Formats: sequence, structure tokens, C-alpha cells
Amino acid sequence: MRCPFCKEDDSRVVDSRTVEEGLAVRRRRECTSCGRRFTTAEVASLVVVKRSGVSETFSRQKVVSGVRKACQGRPVNEDDLALLAQQVEDAVRATGQAEVPAMEVGLAILSPLRELDEVAYLRFASVYRSFDNLEDFEAEIALLRAEGEPVGQEPVGRPFNVSASRQNHEETNTARTR
Ligand SMILES: [Zn+2]
Repeated sequence: MRCPFCKEDDSRVVDSRTVEEGLAVRRRRECTSCGRRFTTAEVASLVVVKRSGVSETFSRQKVVSGVRKACQGRPVNEDDLALLAQQVEDAVRATGQAEVPAMEVGLAILSPLRELDEVAYLRFASVYRSFDNLEDFEAEIALLRAEGEPVGQEPVGRPFNVSASRQNHEETNTARTR
């Protein structure tokens, strides 16, 4: 392992420990030339299998570039994207599979992206889940509205209230007629 300080090719391991519940090994190394220490991490590579059957190593960078376009013009920065990619990797790794279909990686993106920015989420979901008409968008937006209802605020314009007030109104009318 090359030293990141002086680029010397030789280093020795001074400490090795298992981290992240056994999913990774972290090694402390010392450069044989400059004596400085650095850490390396070893994780099992996660393989993503595309629909075409081609497989490739999971890459957070690919997740970021896949999502970045949907985030254009939205208040989402590089740190947000990096965190999202990390969340996606964690979610995919948590399934415990060594090989995951690309479809599952896409699904793992949807939830954290929705948390991050709803507009970006809609853009991404529309392509990913191939929305092909306005009804698909409307259904998804209705779902977002229903789930994203602000907490601790007076619910305004909910169907329940509308029908309740209409009912009151009708009762008043009936009373008047009598
Ligand atoms: Zn060195």
C-alpha cells in the first residue's frame, strides 16, 4: 500500500481491527520510508447486476451522478449528495447480499432522496419508475402530500373538515326551512 504522504510503495501494518459489525477491516499502517502512519479500510466489494446481466462494483460516485441531474436547480449540495450515496450504500449492504440487482439500488435511492428534496425525488422517480402520464405524477404528489403533512399545524382543507362544514351548513338550511 502506497504511502499517501511520500508515495513510498512499502508500508507495514501496525494494527488491524474489525469494524462495522464485522463488515470491514481497518488497518493502521506505517510507511517504511517517512515513518508516517495512515489508515486503510477493507470491505467486501458489493456487486451490482444490471438488467443486461453485466455486473459492476457498487460505486457511491455512480449513485451521486445518477441523482445529480434530478437535483439541478434545487437546494441540494455536494455534501447532501455524498450523504445520500452513503445512506444508499448502507441500505444495500444491510440486505446482506453480495450481489444486488441494479433495480434494488434504484429503490434504495428513492427514500433518502424524498427526505432530501421532494422535487428532485419526483424527477428521479418519474424517470426511474417510468411515469408516462399526468396521473402517475398526480398519484405520487398526492402520496407525498398525504405523508408529508406538517405536524402540529391546524389541518386546513382536509376532506374531513370540508364534509363536516358542509354537513353543518345543510343542517342550518334544514333548520331554516322548518
Ligand atoms: Zn511515507
